[in-house]
Amino acid sequence: MADRNNDPVVVIGLGRFGSALALELARRGTEVLALDNDPRHVQRLAGEITHIATADATDMATLRQLGVPDFYRAVVAIGSDIEASILTASLLVELEIDHIWAKAVSKQHGRILDRIGVHHVVFPEHDMGERVAHLVSGRMLDYMQVDENFALVKTLPPKDYVGVPLGRSNLRRKHGVTIVAVKSPGEEFTYATAETELRYGDVVIVSGPTDRVERFAELP
Ligand code: ADP
Repeated sequence: MADRNNDPVVVIGLGRFGSALALELARRGTEVLALDNDPRHVQRLAGEITHIATADATDMATLRQLGVPDFYRAVVAIGSDIEASILTASLLVELEIDHIWAKAVSKQHGRILDRIGVHHVVFPEHDMGERVAHLVSGRMLDYMQVDENFALVKTLPPKDYVGVPLGRSNLRRKHGVTIVAVKSPGEEFTYATAETELRYGDVVIVSGPTDRVERFAELP
């Protein structure tokens, strides 16, 4: 199968989420077609995104005129106008775009997007809220939920695991987690091995079931 990871992406809706997404894709060298029906948003980004237009994405003729049917990937980044979000997403489904992402602002909104055939529904505000809750309430330096019950956490090593080779620490048996990478002060992250000995000041990346990594990150 051809690698289509660098195929152009159409981003519809250039509010805070959509514009950050479009700019990051452009920065990474992905060609972007960015659309918004508010000319002020379009003007604001015009110097930074090559293909950008003022357009109402709920209009099929407009989408066709702009060549949207040829895109392999599309993101609907309209949130506050739920009707426009659903209408736009349904047109993209009708156009048989292979990978459609859409942002949802509520569970119900997400459910509708899912039902009409959007392939990837994301909840940026909800997910970020959960993530910040983890950061605020513990010692975690960063947190990422990678699946329903699996997370990656950046944290400091508990004192009992400092100075012991990871291979002899029984970490997985005792806590159900794995240390995947370690960073010493002033150095880069390296993969953890059975011989790795953690030191005070190190930062570790831990993976495992969400509740287990949460508990691990709370150890003193
Ligand atoms: P955020 O919370 O990320 O700022 P918003 O929902 O406020 O997201 O922004 C959505 C953007 O989508 C706005 O810039 C708005 O002008 C744009 N938008 C809304 N309806 C349409 C539409 N029918 N066609 C194209 N863009 C639209």
